Amino acid sequence: MELYADIIVDISHSRLDRTFTFRVPEELRQILEPGNVVEVPFGKSDRPQKGYVLRISDHTSCAPEKLKTILRVETNLAGAESKLTALALWMRDYYGSTAVQALRTVLPFREKSAPRERKRLVSLVPKEQLQQQMETCRRKHQTARARLLEAMLQEPVLPMEVVTGSLKITPSVWKPLAEQGVLTCERELVYRTPAVLQRLRADIRKDQENSRGVGGAAELSGLSGDSGTIRLSTEQQQVVDQICARWEDGTGRYLIHGVTGSGKTAVYMELIAHALERGQQAILLIPEISLTYQNVIRFYHRFGDRISILHSRLSQAERYDQFERARDGDIDVMIGPRSALFTPFQRLGILIIDEEHEASYHSESVPRYHAREVALKRAELEGAHLVLGSATPSLEAYYGAEHGRYELLCLPNRVAGGELPVVHTVDLRSELKEGNRSILSRMLVEKLEDTLARGQQAMLFLNRRGYSGFVSCRACGYVAKCPHCDVSLSLHKNGKLICHYCGYSEPMIHDCPECGSGFIGGFRAGTQQIEEVVQQRFPQARLLRMDADTTRGKDGHAEILRAFGNGEADILIGTQMIVKGHDFPNVTLVGILAADLSLHVADYRASERTFQLLTQAAGRAGRGKEPGEVVIQTYDPEHYAIVCAARQEYEPFYRQEIAYRRLAGYPPAGGILAVHCASKEEQTLTVAIDYLSRFLRGIAQRRKAAVIGPADEPVARIQDVYRKAVYVKHSDTRVLIAIKNITELYIEQNPGYKPITIQYEMN
Ligand code: ADP
Ligand code: ZN
Ligand code: ZN
Repeated sequence: MELYADIIVDISHSRLDRTFTFRVPEELRQILEPGNVVEVPFGKSDRPQKGYVLRISDHTSCAPEKLKTILRVETNLAGAESKLTALALWMRDYYGSTAVQALRTVLPFREKSAPRERKRLVSLVPKEQLQQQMETCRRKHQTARARLLEAMLQEPVLPMEVVTGSLKITPSVWKPLAEQGVLTCERELVYRTPAVLQRLRADIRKDQENSRGVGGAAELSGLSGDSGTIRLSTEQQQVVDQICARWEDGTGRYLIHGVTGSGKTAVYMELIAHALERGQQAILLIPEISLTYQNVIRFYHRFGDRISILHSRLSQAERYDQFERARDGDIDVMIGPRSALFTPFQRLGILIIDEEHEASYHSESVPRYHAREVALKRAELEGAHLVLGSATPSLEAYYGAEHGRYELLCLPNRVAGGELPVVHTVDLRSELKEGNRSILSRMLVEKLEDTLARGQQAMLFLNRRGYSGFVSCRACGYVAKCPHCDVSLSLHKNGKLICHYCGYSEPMIHDCPECGSGFIGGFRAGTQQIEEVVQQRFPQARLLRMDADTTRGKDGHAEILRAFGNGEADILIGTQMIVKGHDFPNVTLVGILAADLSLHVADYRASERTFQLLTQAAGRAGRGKEPGEVVIQTYDPEHYAIVCAARQEYEPFYRQEIAYRRLAGYPPAGGILAVHCASKEEQTLTVAIDYLSRFLRGIAQRRKAAVIGPADEPVARIQDVYRKAVYVKHSDTRVLIAIKNITELYIEQNPGYKPITIQYEMN
C-alpha cells in the first residue's frame, strides 16, 4: 500500500501551516512516524531540504504521479530532534497553535550569519621534513606552496583566516599537501560562550589561584571544598535515595515539598550527578529571577564546564550554540528558565523544575504552554525522570501528588537547623479605627526601630503582582466581588466595576455596603510612596528600592541585590522581585505591607498566589544565625491564605483552596479553556466574539460544558489592540481539547475571523 506524508519544509512563517505531500518510500513505510525529521527534494533544483513529518496517510488529494519521494529519514530515529518534534506536535494539539508555531518554540533556530566552525591547517610531519619540502618547492618555483610551508615551520598550527588572509593561499595549494600527508585541515567547533559563563570561568580561575596563595578565598564565594560537594543531611539523603533507588525502573515523577531553606538545591545537584554518572544528561529549570550569579556558581563549582546556562538576555546565536553544544555532547547539564526545557540532549536522564509554582513557567506566547505539563510529556517520551520542587507547591502539582501522578517527598525542616520565622498579623482595619492612617502599622514601625538599632536588615514587600484595581473598604475589609464568578471586580476608568470572567458590571460604590463607611476605594500606594513614608519616619536609615523602575538597566536587578547583600543599605523596599534569588543572612525582619493586594486580583488563582508570595517572603527572614520575624499587614486577617501563610502551613491551605476550586469548577479540580481574541477594531472584535461565543455555546451544550463570557481581558487594550476573552469550563481536559479542535476548524473555515487574532489557553 502506498503511503503519503504531509511535511512542513519551511518554518519561517508561522501564521499558517503550509504542508507539502511526499510519497513515503517502501523502506520507510513501517517506521516513519509523525514528528520524524526527514530530507526531501525541494524547489526547482530538487535540493535536499530538511522537513518535519506532520501526518501520514494512505490517500492523498494530490495526483500521486506528481509527488516526489522522501529521500531519507534522520538516521537516528530516536534522535533528539525527532523526539522534540513529536513533543511540538503534542503541544500543538494540547495548547492549540499551528505546527510551525510549536516547532519554532521547541526547535532551536539556525542562525545564518556568524560562522560556527573554525578551520585550521596542522602540520603532520617533523620540522626537518617541512624544511626539505620547502626547499624543493622553492627550486621548482612553486612559490605559494613554499610560502605556506615556511609559515608552517614557524607555526605548526595555522588558522584558516591566516592561510587565506595574509598568506593568500588557496585550497588548490594546500589540498595536494594534505593528500601527501604533510598537513591536515582540522575543523574546530567554536561556540559563542555566554558572558555569564565566561565570567564564571574567570572567577573560578581567580579563586583557584588565590586559594593556592592565600587560602580561604574559596569560602568567600560560598564553596566548601574544591568539588562543591556538601554532606547531605539525613532528610536530604533520604529524598535522594528514594529517587535513585528506582532509577533504572523507567520514569519516576516526584514532587519535593521542602520548606524555604530546606536545602533543595543540594538535592538537585546530587540527582544531576547521579544522571551524569550513568552517561545521561540533566535539565534544571529555575525561574529567570533566581538565575543569579550566586546560584549558578554553586553548580559551576560542582560540574564545571559540563554545564551551560540559558537566560533571556542571550542573543539568538548564543542561545542556538548552547543547544548545539547539548546536541553534540559538549555539555551535560543545562540550567535556565522555561525554554531550557527544549535542550536537545540525546540521553536525557532527569528534568528538574525548581520553584515549580512560579508563574513564569507559563508562556504567554503561542503555544501558551506550561513548562510543568510539557516537562511531564517530554519525560514520558524520553524515559526521563521528572522532579518538581517547591516550598509552596502549585495546586496542580499537589493535586497531582494526591492523585498518584507524582510521588510526594518532603523536606519539612530547614537544613542548617534554623527555625522558621515568627509571624505576626496586623489588622489594618483596627489601625484605622485607632486613628493610624499610615501604611506602616505601629507594630511594623516598632520592629523596624528594633532591627535598625541592632544593626540588622529589613525587607519591606509590596505584593502588587497582577494588581488590577480591586475596590475594598478600609474600615471593614469588604471587597466588591462578582456575584457569579467569586472573583474580585476591577475598577475601570469609566467608573464601572467589571468582572473579567463573565463581563458582569455594576456602578462604582461610594459607601461600603457592609458597614456604610466612606473609606472605600482602590489601593493606590506604590513602592515609591512607601519609600518616602519610610524615609520620613526613619531619616537615618539607608534605603534601597527595587521595582520595575529601578531595575531597568542591564544588571540593575543584580546590582541592587548585591549592594543590599553587602550591607550597603538597612532596608530594601520592593515588589515580588525581592522575594526570590538571594539569601541575606542579616535580614531579620520582613514586612508585608498590604497582603490583600494580591489576594483580590481578578483571577481564580489569587489566593494561591498570595499564599505563595507571603510564605516565600516570610522565608526570607532569619536565614542566618539570628531568628527572623515577619509582620503581615492586612484588611482580611481571617482569610485562610493569610492565616496559613502566617503559620507557614501548606496542607491546611491546600485543603481549603482545593475545596473552593472544586466548588467553582476551576483547575486543577476542573478544566478551563480560554479563547483570547484581539483586534484593532473594537466593533469587529465585539461582533466576532459574540458569534464565537454563540458557536461555543452550541458545541459546549452537547458536551455539558459551560461557556462564560465574553468579557474584556484584565488589560482590555494594549497599544490600541482591543482584547476580549471567552471561557469554556469542563471537568475533563480532553473534552476541552475536543472543543478547541472543532473551534480551530470552524475559525479556519470562516473568513469573518480573519481580522481577529485568536489564541487558546488551557487551564
Ligand atoms: P532551598 O532551595 O530549599 O530554600 P537551599 O538549597 O538554598 O534551600 O539551601 C539553603 C542553605 O543551606 C544554602 O545556603 C545551602 O548552601 C545550605 N545547605 C544545603 N544543604 C546543606 C547541608 N547538607 N549542609 C549544610 N548546609 C547546607
Ligand atoms: Zn466596610
Ligand atoms: Zn463574573
